[in-house]
Amino acid sequence: MTDCLFCRMVAGEIPADVVHETERTLAFRDIAPQAPTHVLVVPKDHHATAGLLVGADPQLLAEVVAAAHAVAVQEGLATDEAPEPGYRLVFNSGPQAGQTVHHVHGHVLGGRALTWPPG
Ligand code: AMP
Ligand code: ZN
Repeated sequence: MTDCLFCRMVAGEIPADVVHETERTLAFRDIAPQAPTHVLVVPKDHHATAGLLVGADPQLLAEVVAAAHAVAVQEGLATDEAPEPGYRLVFNSGPQAGQTVHHVHGHVLGGRALTWPPG
């Protein structure tokens, strides 16, 4: 039993609107979408941040990024040849970045023009 929300979603204990899955990653729609496409991509194994994951298992971080790109292609935000119309991949890490769930997740955001710099 874990109190990690995303571990529990990976385990099927809490429902997830899954849009993409590989052997070691899961992607599901964010419950409070900030753009027409807002999908979270997580490794099935628990790691708190991208920085900790890349130290522990760099191949798994690559698999998370590959899954994020596959989701973007699936959502019509890019192709394997070109990033059109485009999407943003965000890993919030730590309190000042606003990380609220301490299981690494990439936000795939797209479907509207995204402003820069972020808030
Ligand atoms: P972060 O602020 O980067 O830690 O992002 C956490 C994200 O998880 C937020 O965008 C939340 O809306 C999202 N979230 C929280 N609970 C759920 C849930 N049960 N299903 C899907 N997304 C969730
Ligand atoms: Zn976890």
